[in-house]
Amino acid sequence: MSQSMQTLSHDRRQLLKASALAAAGSLVTGGSLPVVQADQAVDDLPTGEGMSWNKAPCRFCGTGCHVQVGVEDGRVVAVAGDKAADVNKGLLCVKGYHVGGILYGKDRLTEPLLRQEDGSLKPIEWDEAIKIIAKRIFDSPETFAFYGSGQWTIPEGYAAQKFMKGGLSNNHIDPNARLCMASAVTGFLGTYGVDEPAGCYQDLDECDVLITWGNNPAEMHPVLFSRVTDRRSRGENVRIIDIGTRRTRTTDAANDYLEMDSHGDVPIALGIMHLLIENGTYDKSFVEKHCNFRAHPESGKTLFGEAISEDEFRKRIAEYTPERVSELSGLSVEQIRMLGDLFGDDDVKITSLWCMGMNQHTMGTAINTLVHGVHLLSGHFGKPGDSPTSLTGQPSACGTVREVGTLAHALPGGRIVANPEHRQQCEGFWNIPEGRINATPGYHTVKMFDQFTIPTDEGGDITTMFVQVTNPGQTLPNLNKLFNDKKNLADKFLIVSDVYPTPTTELADLILPAAMWVEKNGIYGNSERRTQQWFKMVDPPGDARDDTWMTIAIAHKLFEMGHEGMKDKDGEFIFAVKDESGEEVPIWEFDRYYDTNVDKHLFEEYRQFTTMKHKNLAPYDEYVKARGLRWPVVEQEDGSWRETKFRFSGFDDPFVAEGEEFDFYHSSTKDGRAQIWFHDYEPPPEMPDDEYPMWLCTGRVLEHWHTGSMTRRLAPLNRAMPTGYVEMNMEDAKAANIRQGEKVIVESRRGSCELPVWIDGRGRPPRGTIFVPFFDETKLINNVTLDEHCPISKQPDYKKCAARVKKLSEAES
Ligand code: SF4
Repeated sequence: MSQSMQTLSHDRRQLLKASALAAAGSLVTGGSLPVVQADQAVDDLPTGEGMSWNKAPCRFCGTGCHVQVGVEDGRVVAVAGDKAADVNKGLLCVKGYHVGGILYGKDRLTEPLLRQEDGSLKPIEWDEAIKIIAKRIFDSPETFAFYGSGQWTIPEGYAAQKFMKGGLSNNHIDPNARLCMASAVTGFLGTYGVDEPAGCYQDLDECDVLITWGNNPAEMHPVLFSRVTDRRSRGENVRIIDIGTRRTRTTDAANDYLEMDSHGDVPIALGIMHLLIENGTYDKSFVEKHCNFRAHPESGKTLFGEAISEDEFRKRIAEYTPERVSELSGLSVEQIRMLGDLFGDDDVKITSLWCMGMNQHTMGTAINTLVHGVHLLSGHFGKPGDSPTSLTGQPSACGTVREVGTLAHALPGGRIVANPEHRQQCEGFWNIPEGRINATPGYHTVKMFDQFTIPTDEGGDITTMFVQVTNPGQTLPNLNKLFNDKKNLADKFLIVSDVYPTPTTELADLILPAAMWVEKNGIYGNSERRTQQWFKMVDPPGDARDDTWMTIAIAHKLFEMGHEGMKDKDGEFIFAVKDESGEEVPIWEFDRYYDTNVDKHLFEEYRQFTTMKHKNLAPYDEYVKARGLRWPVVEQEDGSWRETKFRFSGFDDPFVAEGEEFDFYHSSTKDGRAQIWFHDYEPPPEMPDDEYPMWLCTGRVLEHWHTGSMTRRLAPLNRAMPTGYVEMNMEDAKAANIRQGEKVIVESRRGSCELPVWIDGRGRPPRGTIFVPFFDETKLINNVTLDEHCPISKQPDYKKCAARVKKLSEAES
């Protein structure tokens, strides 16, 4: 294992600054670069002849840090943390400081490539590529699927959404965010009747206790985590309680580490609620005024469940005694009582934080609603620092997926295809004939790829798939079943738009070179409901083009071919944009695409959808001025626009009725109340046994962003974390006679992966558990994971399956 992997400091500020220094010799062009330290102000950015700076959100995680991007001679030559940004106040993490370099990897895709019969790739013109796609869709629109991303910008996702649901009457559109935060969505919907967190990042500045539930923000959301550790370095007393299945860098900073068994979070949350009731320390007044109780009906699991009485809730929760919870979760009775006492204390402010640990879970919806329930029952809700808050991994999982609704069942602004009124409203906004939007939800991600990799004559009814801005050939679970089988299916056609070659482009029949980040205009929405805009600053390389343009160009080709769905009620093109004189701008021709600001047109159209669920957005130009604004953003009497930090709380939310302290105004029970759920514990879908005796958990690392397709092209980051690995406990390694760094085979009933071993390294799993990150495209751990998923959110469980570790010599023999 590389020295750098072992010695990186976990002190956030030091790491962040060290990152900036590292960037000095590495970033972007290979020449000397002006790199700005985190503690330098935005207004002392270096200037020079021909040098310009402009703002953009970081390309990577859902934190949504703002960077200042320095451009000279048409190239990004420097990046600095943006001190004017409330999210990061000038700080960036090691990835953020290197973000400019992702544009300049040597193997950028620069021309459309069509797979030939012998497997080779032949460059073709864009016109031909667009014609090929349009013809396949025209011939069989119902067997076409669009697979998108939480990295889609809001206009990209909105264009894809309108193309599919408003144009093709086809709901087979789903994003990779299904794999990382779908359970958070169903958790919010089931609890509050509307999606996305009530609080914001200010909670991290004001909490007394931070509880991380299966979450490692020290590596995955480092700038956010530094808000808490910085408070400590200023002498504030913030207690961090890390509930996890392995020790991580977050554990290193925690006061308490509570090591749970896999799936143990569900009984822990139930146990806390049990103690709040048993001890009489729940917030009686808050619950009486603002909450109902809920559970699944006997007939099966549903998103909104059925009402149960408080007495029934008490009866069911009585089963989850500390002793029983200890057996199910692996925590001691004392640890469970400590958590119960903590939530029973009115004098502390508690923020719960989670991300994929709770979401990638076969009980994902259940554990999300239970943690909300713990906060509601205890009254630790709705005050700054006292809040349940989920984070997203991708920069626009909230903005593009959850708000624009690029999910198979959704429509923009919190609407769903199954609701006739919602369909009618969307048809009105889009000026398309009534009845065009299909009422049946499309395939969710796992089902979509299953249908794509099943032969057509065996019922696999997805024949053409367009993948934009994501890498499912690396991220889907159980890859042998859901992706790799595609290579044997000659009649299936995979179109992939991306910036670099990936495991997904390896099986693509048509590869489209995409513009990325500041090579195009964009808008993201981060984890705290903050909508962030940026402008194109440099040209993409070669013939790479914007993803929004690709969607519009395909739509226009279909329009020319006479596809009725590409026309609105007046016979006009559904993406028509007029100039000031009323002339249509031919935005489907790429050399005319930037004659107008297409992002602005699409955003202003989309903005109309956002008021129904009180996710109101300001006009585009307000976002040009700001470092993002948190919705709902409401116009004031003086014409200014005010953002909202704390939803449902009378002191801040403009939609809470005058004089009310709280109002859950989208309550599923239509009585202004939130729902406290009961769920019985259910065992994981697969447990270790004699044949596969280890728990396998997968996840991410600090240096690489998700599948590493961008960060692996950055030499400093790749040197710091050069290879995928399997973390093992020392005792497990000794028992199997496995040495540090030795290559082993990790295998499950579904597949295998060869990896070097890291014993008690950065992460320290307990005996019987191994951890493998998924960033390394040469070591595809998702050949091993399973595709079992939450029955409500359909999000797969990447955090636990049964596996074994074999020495290479054993595997070979
Ligand atoms: S990767 Fe995330 S935490 Fe790091 S700079 Fe970018 S947005 Fe901020």
